[in-house]
Amino acid sequence: MGSLLQKLEAAVKRHNDFYKNSLPLIASENLTCSMTRKYYLSDLGHRYAEGKVGERFYQGCDAIDEIEQLAIDLTKKLFKAEHANVQPISGVVANIAAFFALTKPFDTIMALSVPCGGHISHDRFSAAGIRGLKVEYYPFNSEEMEIDVDETRKIALKLKPRVFVLGSSLILFPQPVKELAEVAAEIDAKVLYDGSHVLGLIAGGEFQDPLREGADVVTASTHKTFFGPQRAIILSKKELADEIDRAVFPGVVSNHHLNTLAALVVSLAEMLEFGKAYASQVVKNARKLAEKLYELGFKVVGESKGFTSSHQVAVDVREFGGGARVAKSLEGINVVLNKNLMPWDDVSSSSDPSGIRIGVQEVTRLGMKEGEMEEIAEIIHARIVKGEGESLKQRVIELKRKFNTIKYTFEEEEAYVWEE
Ligand SMILES: *Cc1c(COP(=O)(O)O)cnc(C)c1O
Repeated sequence: MGSLLQKLEAAVKRHNDFYKNSLPLIASENLTCSMTRKYYLSDLGHRYAEGKVGERFYQGCDAIDEIEQLAIDLTKKLFKAEHANVQPISGVVANIAAFFALTKPFDTIMALSVPCGGHISHDRFSAAGIRGLKVEYYPFNSEEMEIDVDETRKIALKLKPRVFVLGSSLILFPQPVKELAEVAAEIDAKVLYDGSHVLGLIAGGEFQDPLREGADVVTASTHKTFFGPQRAIILSKKELADEIDRAVFPGVVSNHHLNTLAALVVSLAEMLEFGKAYASQVVKNARKLAEKLYELGFKVVGESKGFTSSHQVAVDVREFGGGARVAKSLEGINVVLNKNLMPWDDVSSSSDPSGIRIGVQEVTRLGMKEGEMEEIAEIIHARIVKGEGESLKQRVIELKRKFNTIKYTFEEEEAYVWEE
């Protein structure tokens, strides 16, 4: 048993050391502060609190009620939402709940296909499929990286979808919430905005504001641009509150992970205080990285609209052997990002798609600014275009050494601390 635990300890330490010495550019990840992580270890992680605040099924939930009410109140305040449910334990679970609240089995919904950026949970072979939904894909313009609203309206008037799903996993620009809310009104449908990727930018007022633009429901993970614990929230108009709450419990959660719920309160407070400064730097960094990559000759997607208005940069790397090869090669010098389907790819090529996706939210949380974005672009260029080798890893480690402090938090502190 001793050696098994040693093996585990060594693997966790190896993971921690790797991240300490690498550039984390996965667009769906972030870092939490130690005050957030402290609550992961609390007794809350042993408990159940089924039901709503003040209406629990078990005894012992007094303090938990207070914690959950804090999370609800801060969420409503931060997003100016009429209703907030903070119980979903992940973004996929939040989406399943939203589908249960807004549809009947075998209804039709409209969503983005996965190559056009849609999340797998919007598709028929995944969460939407659990509800038996038929999924019609939006017509998409891959030059502009946007949904074709006029064509969508024509299809929608014929097929009468019950829900328009917006928000996606590859998301460079704001999406047509207002326009599709108008179409939805014509056919008595609803707009569901999945803000998993961009929640931190919405919180900081740096992207679109789906609730103000006409979305009925917003689902979102709280750990991508929103630098909280791994869980999710659902925001909605007041008149949908009961349906949403019932769909979450008893619909899709029993235990709702009370330790990370307490942790969420910390990150909500951080976002209220630092969200604006953080989000604005994230968007500036993404644009600078895109511009520099473009200048160095890369085929950066979304050129006609200034490459990006979010935390993401997408690059077509077919000329360098495709997304799989490029992502793997960068991992070799401690640059961590992912291969990504592009709108013109077939879903069946997901193991070797055309592109890579880069997210700057995590390095921004560590304090990187436009100058570091230029250096990251140069490092990627040196590896992928010039084919430089191991020496680049040292350059990455040295750059990262200067940025191992968590910013946009109440007490700045070292990241990647691991107590042996
Ligand atoms: C990441 C993501 C999800 C899933 O969130 P999890 O918390 O990983 O379950 C849902 N929707 C979109 C658009 C995402 O990008």
